[in-house]
Amino acid sequence: MLDLKLIKKTSFISVFVLVSVLVHAQNHHAQGHHAPHWSYDGEAGPEHWGDLTPEYSTCKTGLSQSPINVTNAVSANLPPIDFHYSPSPLKITDNGHTVQVTYAPGSYLVAGGKRYDLVQFHFHHPSEEQINGSRADLVIHLVHKSAEGKLAVVAVLFDEGTANPAMEAVVNKLPAVKEHELLTDATVNAEDILPSKRSYYAFSGSLTTPPCTEGVQWFVMQTRSTLSKSALERLAKLYPDNTRPVQPLNGRVVEAGS
Ligand SMILES: [Zn+2]
Repeated sequence: MLDLKLIKKTSFISVFVLVSVLVHAQNHHAQGHHAPHWSYDGEAGPEHWGDLTPEYSTCKTGLSQSPINVTNAVSANLPPIDFHYSPSPLKITDNGHTVQVTYAPGSYLVAGGKRYDLVQFHFHHPSEEQINGSRADLVIHLVHKSAEGKLAVVAVLFDEGTANPAMEAVVNKLPAVKEHELLTDATVNAEDILPSKRSYYAFSGSLTTPPCTEGVQWFVMQTRSTLSKSALERLAKLYPDNTRPVQPLNGRVVEAGS
């Protein structure tokens, strides 16, 4: 009798343990539902992104993809973008594709009467955007999101030259490990990334990384900023080429403000 009781108890515990393990495994699977690996060359490179998983199919089938070669821009009476950027604690992640700075809430821009909040910025080396067929040394993408979830990206092209305070702050605090957010004791001001003259090109496009989601409003600054040779070299060493090739315009119009 005693033995039977013990057996019952043991099997109850076993079942409990088994169920716990299964539930845990399922949770783990749900949380760790990783999008498939992609890269900038080889079998998981840009020409294969659309085939890696159905979630990435827009990379292949989309008709308004980014980046683009900005050319034949049409002169338009574009109102200035209203930037309301303030400094943020410097939070950096090396996510395996770029170095990304997560921005504190409260900085935003207003364009077309709509507010877009600055969420993060990151870099591509060399610049993804081309202007009349030529790339810059690097581009910063400032990613913004409206309350309705619409994305607006401001691209600032950078050439080697005078040091930029925001870029110096970033390279001075580069994380030693990947995929781990580092909250530093430094601050960064996105305002420092913008060129002083803020005329821009405007067009619709997509994310330049999988899943290549469309409906993204792009603003490319016509004037370039500069960063120091040492900052450029630090970033280039981490990511020698994290640039998607330019995509066809497919009839999209690029507007240029003066
Ligand atoms: Zn980007």
